Amino acid sequence: MVLVAEDVRRAYGDTVALDGVSLSVAEGEVYALIGPNGAGKTTLIRSLTGTTDYEGEVDLFGGPPVDADPQRLGLLPQSFDPPERLTARELVDYYGGLYDRARPTSEVLADVGMAGDADTWYGKLSGGQQRRVCVAATLVNDPDLLVLDEPTTGIDPAGRRDLWDLLESLADGGTTVVLTTHYMEEAERLADRVGLLADGRLVAEGSPSALVAEYGGTSRLELRTDADEAAARALAADGYAVDHTPRAVVVSDIPPETIAAVVRTLDESGVEYDALSWRQPDLESVYLALTGTDVTETGEAVEREAEVAA
Ligand code: ADP
Repeated sequence: MVLVAEDVRRAYGDTVALDGVSLSVAEGEVYALIGPNGAGKTTLIRSLTGTTDYEGEVDLFGGPPVDADPQRLGLLPQSFDPPERLTARELVDYYGGLYDRARPTSEVLADVGMAGDADTWYGKLSGGQQRRVCVAATLVNDPDLLVLDEPTTGIDPAGRRDLWDLLESLADGGTTVVLTTHYMEEAERLADRVGLLADGRLVAEGSPSALVAEYGGTSRLELRTDADEAAARALAADGYAVDHTPRAVVVSDIPPETIAAVVRTLDESGVEYDALSWRQPDLESVYLALTGTDVTETGEAVEREAEVAA
């Protein structure tokens, strides 16, 4: 194991940020910690990398994190704000200079797809490009473990996809990665294993597909309609598993090829509706099932009505 944490705890005054977290990360694995703002992701990353105090046990490369060889670790903190008037090349050169052994800057910039913009000021790059340069700075020492705290937060969707491609290629190349994110899609796409963090506790851990299979529930068809009662009655009469609240009807366990039949039932019973959406269970469904909360695009936790969620 590259990293092992045992019952890690951390409080700031009365605020419990970590309430006994245990996890381990194997060599070559991509492990994503997911959870909304305030779940404890940054505090956990900082505990695991020896940049904050904690209670419990952490073993990084076989010893306490404060003793870990910096040469072996690449750490991208959540707020990493390099000077705007350094070029990408100067920035990576600077970080390379901090290590006994550094990879050639041009090679690292090529790895993150920034070779063509190497001489552009950091401040002139797009958000996605800036973050790629930051990842380059963490790669310059050829680390055994890459730790990225919210690598794509605040980046536009195109930049985020770009970064996903980059992280995916690093993972394919065998780099061990621990990352945090509030984007479930990001974890689903990149991680071999995810840990779901809520209020400082790891509420579940496993591969995205195993978690979805265990906690994600079934596929759902959601209908927004004023005629929720009539719709629910008609669908139940046709044998569908249906639940309704004011203005919302949820049909559970609906394979995609059955959607047309549901629409026919609604048409035949004269039910009108504003919106109809179908989704397969994903990590969002898992998080919702386990914590009763949705995580918004900006990372806020929002409680959701239990019966519509079921
Ligand atoms: P996340 O990274 O998931 O957003 P954090 O680890 O930043 O979560 O925060 C977890 C909890 O600890 C939150 O309630 C946060 O307000 C609190 N917290 C984090 N850092 C500090 C600090 N330096 N002082 C006081 N409270 C903090």
